[in-house]
Amino acid sequence: MTDHDVIIVGAGFGGMGAAISLKRLGYGAATRSIAILEREDDLGGTWHVNHYPGLAVDIASVTYSYSFEPNPWWEHWFARGHELKRYAEHVADTYDLRRHMEFGVRVEGARWDEDERHWVVSTSAGTRTATYLMTATGFLSQPRLPDIEGVHDFAGTVIHTAQWDDSADLTGKTVAVIGTGATAVQLIPQIARQAAAMTVYQRTPIWVTPKADFRIPRAVQYLFAAQPWTQRLARRLNSTWLETLMVTGVLHYKQARLFNQGAAALAKAHLRRQVADPELRRKLTPDYSFGCKRPTFSNDYYPTFTRPHVTLETTPIRNITSTGVVTGDGRETEADVLVLATGFNLWDTNFPAFEVIGRDGRNLGKLWREQGYHAYEGVTVAGFPNFVTLNSPYSYSGLSYFMTIEVQMRHLERLFGELQQRGAHTFEISERADQEFLAHMLERMDDTVFVQGSCATARSYYYTNEGDAVLLRPTSSAHARRAVEAFPLDDYVYA
Ligand code: NAP
Repeated sequence: MTDHDVIIVGAGFGGMGAAISLKRLGYGAATRSIAILEREDDLGGTWHVNHYPGLAVDIASVTYSYSFEPNPWWEHWFARGHELKRYAEHVADTYDLRRHMEFGVRVEGARWDEDERHWVVSTSAGTRTATYLMTATGFLSQPRLPDIEGVHDFAGTVIHTAQWDDSADLTGKTVAVIGTGATAVQLIPQIARQAAAMTVYQRTPIWVTPKADFRIPRAVQYLFAAQPWTQRLARRLNSTWLETLMVTGVLHYKQARLFNQGAAALAKAHLRRQVADPELRRKLTPDYSFGCKRPTFSNDYYPTFTRPHVTLETTPIRNITSTGVVTGDGRETEADVLVLATGFNLWDTNFPAFEVIGRDGRNLGKLWREQGYHAYEGVTVAGFPNFVTLNSPYSYSGLSYFMTIEVQMRHLERLFGELQQRGAHTFEISERADQEFLAHMLERMDDTVFVQGSCATARSYYYTNEGDAVLLRPTSSAHARRAVEAFPLDDYVYA
């Protein structure tokens, strides 16, 4: 007898989606049957952890939400962070998930017990056993501190964007920001509104296109509520548009690079419209292909650099002192506050987010690093029975994360439905199916901008430390949706 039928690690949208699927299949009638373990003190995953000023989605909310739980009350076309957090709470209440959640419980490791045919999960609150283990730990969840000499010597306030201090008042302060990724693009204009002076340290510029954001009128919200088909239509149109861009500009770069160049031209025109100074424009213009690294959308990022109290510093940082940042040419710029918009560590401390030991002592982290990353349809790995890894390499189709989550939910529903039908308790993907899926992904990757484009200078987290682009699933979401309906259930071995 195990402590739980299923342990899900992570109470973000991925973990909640998995729990909803399991409940549809009849699990979870007894509260203890499903345990959702979460290291943070509340639900919502990235939308609970991140609360820096300016936080918002950059995939329109009609698309960035569960299709089966539309929210007609989004206030903005691109919902703000607090709206997403509220939506996560609404989902947890609607699907009765809270009673399965345990907060402040950090999973430290998991081991498959072949004799007992269950998982033994070590947590900060003791050991638990479960027949099935599912990880929904995200991949942007381990904040990265920059490996810059002296970063720990800074005597002023240091804030990483994923650990934002809401009480920090930047009014009248001198602020140094390190990083110009998607987070910084949202945050920098907000800081500029408060700070007396701000220096932004850019190592690699980011492609930025216009953001067609607007407040959704009350009448439209009521329309979405009264006539849900109108919101479904908006979702369909928006998702199709995004999908077309992704498929042509990124996935089929080899065949349709003109589309990719068109996106880059759009971003360059945006920059030209907003920044008159050619030298500043040059510094802000990436030298790698559009899409090698996640592009972003903003209307107020570029103009921020034209403000007199904002400086874009492109000379590499040499070190940090107790009082400021020193660049390679020996100049020190003093600061009261150091903001680290330095992103997340995917390839050292994630994949998996804790040690997972499968059958015959197979260590998932070692296996992935030594023999290459793979996961059948982005969810299961040979040698790891009764284990589902929802944030694997080759799982995310690069658009709304909800598209990926819903495909994975469907995978779980088919797999666990089959398990129930057979009266079986154990599943494992066959080595053959796992390897065939990998071969298919590698073949499709060949057409993408990641292989065919000019990505060497992008420093993109889409690539592993070894330089392989394994993060995204190189197929459209439509392909993933078809694949999840069609994968042969016999690809799994049941017992
Ligand atoms: P990121 O894209 O990894 O950017 C980190 C930034 O820090 C980069 O500019 C990087 O420069 C810089 N950096 C890191 N270490 C450095 C060092 N030692 N010295 C100098 N610069 C250093 O992280 P992020 O901006 O937090 O975004 C991560 C992801 O979160 C995004 O790609 C996106 O998927 C997601 N996100 C989404 C939204 C949304 O609206 N939906 C908003 C924010 C974030 P290099 O590029 O040179 O490495």
